[in-house]
Amino acid sequence: MHELSLSSAIVNTVVKHAHGRRVTVVELRVGKLRQVIPDTLEFYFEFVARDTVCEGARLEQQVIDARLSCRGCGHEWKIEIPAFRCPACGGSDVEIATGNEFEVESITVEEAECIGQR
Ligand SMILES: [Zn+2]
Repeated sequence: MHELSLSSAIVNTVVKHAHGRRVTVVELRVGKLRQVIPDTLEFYFEFVARDTVCEGARLEQQVIDARLSCRGCGHEWKIEIPAFRCPACGGSDVEIATGNEFEVESITVEEAECIGQR
């Protein structure tokens, strides 16, 4: 049910920013380390979006590669599976550079229904 709570978070964020305007597109940035299944997320998004301004909106998911960086030598690399050792210097003092994202990048709303916009 991981995707269900994420979907609720998305809808809450978007509703807050839409100010009552109907949302047509929601762009998301999802890091690979979040282990989100896109189809499942979309399914729950549609479910949670019902009866909100997000109903019927298209969810566009941009997957961000997981990258680690080594604090020892500054090397940065992409990982497919979690392997927390620097291939350049062998050090284990590494941090997640990218891949942990989960954020709404942008939303598109119907201009015709703008209320209170100048
Ligand atoms: Zn290193």
